[in-house]
Amino acid sequence: MPPSTAPEASAARPSLPGAATSRAVIDLEAVAHNGRLLAQVAGVPWMAVVKADAYGHGLGPIALTALSVGASWLGVAQLAEALALRALLDEADVDRPAGEPSGQAPRILTWLLPVMDPARAAAEDSPLRAALAADLDLSVSTLPQLEALSAAARAQATTARLHLKVDTGMSRGGAMAEDLPALAAALRQAEDEGVVDVVGLWSHLSRADEPTSGSTEQHLERYRQAEQIVQEAGLRPSIHHLAATGGLLWHPDARMDLVRAGIGLYGLSPDPSVATSSELGLQPAMRLESALVQVKRIDAGQAVSYGGTWCAPTDRWVGLVPLGYSDGIPRAAGSTGPVGVDGIMSSIVGRVCMDQVVIDLGPARDETGALLPAPAQVGDTAVLWGAPDAVGQEAVPTADEWAQACGTINYEIVTRLGARVPRCYVGAEAGGGYARP
Ligand SMILES: *Cc1c(COP(=O)(O)O)cnc(C)c1O
Repeated sequence: MPPSTAPEASAARPSLPGAATSRAVIDLEAVAHNGRLLAQVAGVPWMAVVKADAYGHGLGPIALTALSVGASWLGVAQLAEALALRALLDEADVDRPAGEPSGQAPRILTWLLPVMDPARAAAEDSPLRAALAADLDLSVSTLPQLEALSAAARAQATTARLHLKVDTGMSRGGAMAEDLPALAAALRQAEDEGVVDVVGLWSHLSRADEPTSGSTEQHLERYRQAEQIVQEAGLRPSIHHLAATGGLLWHPDARMDLVRAGIGLYGLSPDPSVATSSELGLQPAMRLESALVQVKRIDAGQAVSYGGTWCAPTDRWVGLVPLGYSDGIPRAAGSTGPVGVDGIMSSIVGRVCMDQVVIDLGPARDETGALLPAPAQVGDTAVLWGAPDAVGQEAVPTADEWAQACGTINYEIVTRLGARVPRCYVGAEAGGGYARP
């Protein structure tokens, strides 16, 4: 991460931090609003999914904001992320779940563990022992994983809190139905030994954004079958969870005991073709902006950027924006990615470079051939994506428009934002608002 940027007041548009030429402004008030809204729709406890640096928004401020509006769980994909999150919560003086997980303290679930044999798992410097020491909830899908986790728990003289992940039709992680009886029996045995406690049974939906596909009903059916097998093995998980944002919004039966909200927390729709973020009442939290570092006039026919893939159709004003694919601007945005400058909706012309793109600001001459003044100046703010009304500014493209332009999804647009872009936090006391329950 570049040098950290201090929290700034939400009212004024803060100035560019230090030497950076671009920044992502993250509106924590929007995140808080989205969290409250999703919690109300769900009607059950919720997990804020903050993997991948909170979808590019920044782990710490997002996690603390989510906790401040009632998230009782935080979820990350990888163990390293979970350990970083625990360190961050300890630093912020957030309580850990005490031995018996019944209190108010938020819990952290992580679902991708490093592969290791039981001997390595039991070693002094074992990452799985670090996971247990960090009071994490861990996912388990296979017997070798259970063996490693049991070895770590024995060595650590503790009980691992596990969520049994079953495959209900995504064919990604999770135990297959035919492997479940043996895995459930082994879990039961490990419970008897006192090294694990199976607290959760969970899975993930593959087509929650296709409400009429019948896919989610099939997932639910397979989930119920898994639940039966688990019960027969004598396990009694008390936390059943299946839904991410799409399931939370569009499949009430999938809400169960806990929902895992990622994209909605950031104010984006899991599928804008089903419902847009504004239709859902969600507020996009990230605005990516930069300052024009050069404005120039080019002649008709002049080619722009590597390969000369775009040629000026007339004499044009063009602007230089210091953001490129190393900052997460998809190269697929060449000659298509929308950029707003002072109420003008412009677009990238030519190829996206590693560190910069050129945008077309419009014709340089009127019909009589007389020179037109440049419609934008060096230093003017170029907004790549954000919430249109957040700055009272017209011509703000959205992450959804970027996704469409680049043939991808809004998740990828925000999450791939490069580490070089400073994140600046506004709103909700800029992340300091977490009050211990
Ligand atoms: C990423 C992820 C989520 C969150 O999904 P959204 O669609 O962003 O809400 C939930 N559960 C799992 C297992 C995930 O990998």
